Amino acid sequence: MSDTPHGGEGSGAASLKAPSSALHSPLSAASCWIGLGANLGDASGTLQRAVAALAALPGVWVVSVSSLYRSAPVDAAGPDYWNAVAELGTTLPPLALLHALQAIEGAEGRERPYCNAPRTLDLDVLLYADQRIATPELTVPHPRMAERAFVLLPLAELAPERVSAAQLRAVAGQRIDRVADQAWAGLPA
Ligand code: ADP
Ligand code: MG
Repeated sequence: MSDTPHGGEGSGAASLKAPSSALHSPLSAASCWIGLGANLGDASGTLQRAVAALAALPGVWVVSVSSLYRSAPVDAAGPDYWNAVAELGTTLPPLALLHALQAIEGAEGRERPYCNAPRTLDLDVLLYADQRIATPELTVPHPRMAERAFVLLPLAELAPERVSAAQLRAVAGQRIDRVADQAWAGLPA
């Protein structure tokens, strides 16, 4: 793999502008990056609904969404995963954002029978501005993101400065395919 992070021009990432109401918000806004994954049921359809659900959250707007990827499960059995990363702007503090993500997971029927179990929808906070958070409920940056091609490749499309060439080389052996250009529905034009 070259030292150039995956993505950039023509990568298929969809970019969106913040709504004017957000730009004029009196609250301070933060950029954050969310990992989306699903491997049960209509997984790509679930990710479509999840992006629309993120866009509908109060205090959240979707800045951009990566290409859609298909990857082999890491440290688990089961069907392939469908993955993407979304960049959000938000006025929600980190824990409130996590709880909003968990509510979207719940609405998609997420169950947690055991660690790394197949899932209808997984939404993880990868990065929240430049914050480092270490609480029992929330760790940011996400503690396992650097081990996962399915996080690093889509993240590198949206925020290449947040992913190093060395990190990409370290996950180069993981099976992952970028799915042909994906239009994300449910977002404002
Ligand atoms: P997975 O690690 O496979 O994504 P879950 O989605 O079931 O597992 O999450 C397990 C727990 O991880 C959640 O209850 C949540 O409190 C915690 N957690 C810690 N840091 C994060 C983070 N950055 N994003 C999402 N969940 C997190
Ligand atoms: Mg999770």
